[in-house]
Amino acid sequence: MKLISCLDLKEINRHHRAELLSAFTRVLDSGWYVLGAEVEAFEREFAVWCGADHCVGVGNGLDALTLIFKAYLQQGFMVEGDEVIVPANTYIASILALSAVHLRPVLVEPDAGTFNLDPARIEAAITPRTRAILAVHLYGRAADMSRIMEIARRHRLKVVEDCAQAHGAKHAGQPVGAWGDAAGFSFYPTKNLGALGDAGAVTTSDPSLARMVRALRNYGSEKKYHNLYQGVNSRLDELQAALLRVRLPSLAAENARRREVAASYLAAIRNPRVRLPAMPAEAEAHVWHLFVVRCAERDRLQAYLATQGVQTMVHYPIPPHRQEAYSGGELAGDWPITEAIHAEVLSLPMGPHLADAEVNRVIMAVNEWA
Ligand SMILES: *Cc1c(COP(=O)(O)O)cnc(C)c1O
Repeated sequence: MKLISCLDLKEINRHHRAELLSAFTRVLDSGWYVLGAEVEAFEREFAVWCGADHCVGVGNGLDALTLIFKAYLQQGFMVEGDEVIVPANTYIASILALSAVHLRPVLVEPDAGTFNLDPARIEAAITPRTRAILAVHLYGRAADMSRIMEIARRHRLKVVEDCAQAHGAKHAGQPVGAWGDAAGFSFYPTKNLGALGDAGAVTTSDPSLARMVRALRNYGSEKKYHNLYQGVNSRLDELQAALLRVRLPSLAAENARRREVAASYLAAIRNPRVRLPAMPAEAEAHVWHLFVVRCAERDRLQAYLATQGVQTMVHYPIPPHRQEAYSGGELAGDWPITEAIHAEVLSLPMGPHLADAEVNRVIMAVNEWA
């Protein structure tokens, strides 16, 4: 029995093999490997794709988020110790980006139906030191950006989007990455748009922020050997930019295939012990980075599916506030919705690599489990 993998990068990239190789050769033969024509072209293309005015390529998704906040600190919009609201059930990187620049993450519980920040809980967490909301489009589903933006405007807060799992998702017809004041993207190989290594980007329509992030990613310099700020080295490589330019034109079709797989799962999985994720009212609000079900006996379901040749994963087994890295108590509090999510979630195979027959095998295996 052939194993159905959660994600098969070899299979996905096999479809782009000739073009990836030619992009690689082009960069190899150019003799120019950092901050050149490929990065500039990708930045233009990805900004257009998101509907943002600017895109700045950086080393990875964590740096994209960190550099946005570093820029806001540098610009004086916030100072160390200020608070940023962030969903309690996010991937740890969202929170590490805040800790890295000495901002205080303030956790807010998600809506159990969408796994995203619950707008109804945001205002209770706002204090005089709150400066921003970090909205995460978790598992590929766009957060409720209209309500988040409305709350933020009323309280004069910045909104930063963590788009690492949601390339191409739209809220009310407008792509993520162009809703907030700035957004961070990851192109880690497993993301919906993945490089062949680490890569990331910041998108924004704020020209002063774009300029600041552009300097910060390159030692805080706009002009060689003149350093305006204490920046870092977090540049998008020419090679990764060239490879991403190959993958970008297929992203919409790959997201559409993910939607088809999700629609099949939602239509055919029928097991009273397995709770399916909610389909958003607008199909384009979800790009199904992950297809996450909930089950009180998650570990038993996972073990059964493994015996049926179906690989699954848990995103994520330990919530940020329970991580050793935060044992100092910075994230302490009662987060029952988040704890229940982490105890019950299981990610079924999802991606453009899946054939219909494999999707059907997953459905049958879940339905047969008793
Ligand atoms: C992957 C991810 C990141 C970090 O991206 P890297 O490129 O791995 O640094 C940040 N936030 C979320 C929600 C992610 O899934």
